[in-house]
Amino acid sequence: MKCQRCGKCCEDTRMELSAKDIRRLEKAGYRKDEFAQHDSEGIWRLRNSEGICSFLNPSSRECNVYELRPVGCYLYPVNLSPEGGVVIDDACPAAGTVDGGEKKKKGVLLRHQLRMIDANRQR
Ligand code: SF4
Repeated sequence: MKCQRCGKCCEDTRMELSAKDIRRLEKAGYRKDEFAQHDSEGIWRLRNSEGICSFLNPSSRECNVYELRPVGCYLYPVNLSPEGGVVIDDACPAAGTVDGGEKKKKGVLLRHQLRMIDANRQR
């Protein structure tokens, strides 16, 4: 895909984090309670600060941890529909640049990521 780095997907983010995502960011020196919070279902998600992901630079609209970003951010705009099918979120202006091969590959990774997140849920 050809991300336009518009930062739209970083607004009011609810991006789910795996334990691996959290460990990678902690290892780089970030504090979990500053970049993440868990929801009522025990799922860790990126934390917003003033309506945007706490890692997004508000002036440049660039991600401060792009190379270390959560797997879900890498996979976006590939997503799962409520019925469980692999879909592309057309809210992303670059949605049309995701080809069939990428959609399929990212769909497999996304299902794996969500299984891991579910297994690590704080119950
Ligand atoms: S993934 Fe899409 S919404 Fe997010 S920054 Fe890139 S172009 Fe914008």
